[in-house]
Amino acid sequence: MTRKLTQGPLVVASHNAGKVREINALIAPFGLEAKSAGELNLPEPEETGTTFQENALIKARAAAEASGLPALADDSGLTVSALDGAPGVYSARWAGPEKDFGKAMEKINTLLTGSPDRSAAFLCVLALAWPDGHVETFEGRVDGLLIWPARGEHGFGYDPIFQPEGHTATFGEMASDAKQAISHRARAFAKMVDACLKP
Ligand code: IMP
Repeated sequence: MTRKLTQGPLVVASHNAGKVREINALIAPFGLEAKSAGELNLPEPEETGTTFQENALIKARAAAEASGLPALADDSGLTVSALDGAPGVYSARWAGPEKDFGKAMEKINTLLTGSPDRSAAFLCVLALAWPDGHVETFEGRVDGLLIWPARGEHGFGYDPIFQPEGHTATFGEMASDAKQAISHRARAFAKMVDACLKP
């Protein structure tokens, strides 16, 4: 049976203050509070998994063990059908240490030259881990097409080349709330809220 998260604080296994703020807003209505791994000085484990689920679990388990509190982690990325799922868990790493997503998007487009299949999906897995070892995971997904040239200045990462199914704008052209209404991350969070936070 799915375990409910009834007591905080919850550790967000991320050193990104923006992510922690977003999660705090989401869980506050349920009387819960989130603290960041950075705030608690928790070490950042290496993301050695080959799936989003493995990496999310690595991060959530490490934070739960180190803090003695329930911990939440996410892992996400772009999977391209014609590239056997790449860049997948390596989505951030394809942009290199200089985080050059222009280069990463160009690489994808070059690899797709001549391919009739331009379908792709953004995936997000959320993992919730308790100090006693219990875990719950939730997956959100949004399917779409890769377009070229890139369009739009909003968002981040691969947003300017991703056109979600049923839309003519790319994620890069959508205002933040329009993207949040359909994003892989929002869908994974909605599943977690339904399963673990709602009474
Ligand atoms: P994470 O922070 O380890 O989950 O890495 C996620 C990486 O996947 C980001 O650096 C982006 O490259 C890519 N990614 C995940 N979600 C999105 C999105 O909503 N838009 C664009 N790129 C994304």
